[in-house]
Amino acid sequence: MKKKIVILGSTGSIGKSTLEVIKKDKKNFEIVLLTANNNYKKLIQQAKQFNAKNVLIKNHKYYLKVKKSLKKTKVYYGNISLKKIVKKKIDYTMSAIVGIAGLQPTVDAIQISKSIAIANKESIICGWDIISKQINKYKTKLLPVDSEHFSIMELTKNLRDDDVKEIIITASGGPFLNIPKKKLNNIKPKQAIKHPNWKMGKKISVDSANLMNKVFEVIEASKIFNFNSSKYKIMIHPQSYVHSIIRFSNGLIKMILYDTDMKIPISNTLYGRKNNFSNVKKIDAKILNKLTFQNVNKKKFPSINLINKCLTLGALAPTIVNASNEVLVNLFLSKKIRFLDIVKTIEKIISDKDFKKYATRKPISIKDIKISDNWARLKTLVMCVR
Ligand code: NDP
Repeated sequence: MKKKIVILGSTGSIGKSTLEVIKKDKKNFEIVLLTANNNYKKLIQQAKQFNAKNVLIKNHKYYLKVKKSLKKTKVYYGNISLKKIVKKKIDYTMSAIVGIAGLQPTVDAIQISKSIAIANKESIICGWDIISKQINKYKTKLLPVDSEHFSIMELTKNLRDDDVKEIIITASGGPFLNIPKKKLNNIKPKQAIKHPNWKMGKKISVDSANLMNKVFEVIEASKIFNFNSSKYKIMIHPQSYVHSIIRFSNGLIKMILYDTDMKIPISNTLYGRKNNFSNVKKIDAKILNKLTFQNVNKKKFPSINLINKCLTLGALAPTIVNASNEVLVNLFLSKKIRFLDIVKTIEKIISDKDFKKYATRKPISIKDIKISDNWARLKTLVMCVR
């Protein structure tokens, strides 16, 4: 029987990698739904190539163009609920929309999928209370896709908090690891999105350049795994070959190594134990000899100080930091603010007199999350246009 698949954000970096994995074994998959925001040309091409049953283009402007081009595919637009498009339970959803825009579709997808692979870390850090309840209610299997989280999951299956002493999430250090801090203010967007090891979407590339991505990853990990959040540490590892290192209570230390290719965790989430990923290089002493590690320079990357604040200042503190960061990354990419303004402005948001009120609310629904998210977006914009 063919595996029924939904890909949210199929036109992005993770979405395309997921389809590349599927392409090698097309006969065993049925693409039930692909979604995109604006990139209708790519969506049309993917729908034709993979005989997608349904596509959803978020921006209404492109609906007619998509509809005219796809005769055999049902076309939807806007914020329509996935449950209205996909009537029968499917096997696997890849949640790969960028930003909190992925939260509602991810929650919808949990209700219609046997397993959900989540790359969209923003939905986890903002909406975990809701996501976790839905996962339990619908008995959906959660598969973390982020390379570090995929590795932590592999290393800690069936373990309890007592079994684990330290969890290292590695960070490449991004494109500016060896650039002095005083030069960081004049960084141009095109330099920030040029990651040394990974080819990713623009937003996560900027997050990787100032290490905000690691802030989000520690929060993401502390939500999905049952380990005390004080056990997570960031370590710089410029080669990005080791993805996480864990020290256990029995004295052992284990790490997971693999090439910087997101198709590896993606393909593992798709196939589970039956995965056969053939393109991996042989273990090479020359590569292993060059692996290096260093502690994070928090003066150069002050974003790391936000981890503790996000974890301790209220259930919606991560939502506020995420919303502010989403606005700031867009402002930086459109050259309206400087690179270092991103983290500086987030710090100002956290010090704002109204922060506590919006951070300490208890999120019961996505609407509750949106209230704090909207406050942070508006406040950030006001701070930046002053
Ligand atoms: P991209 O920017 O490459 O792709 C984002 C996808 O989301 C595109 O399909 C885009 O559509 C769609 N999208 C954007 N905005 C909206 C919106 N408002 N509503 C609906 N769809 C939208 O991002 P990545 O693939 O790099 O990252 C996706 C997620 O995975 C992020 O959360 C990221 O942090 C996470 N991740 C990514 C990794 C990577 O290697 N890239 C690694 C680990 C995690 P369109 O093309 O039309 O704009």
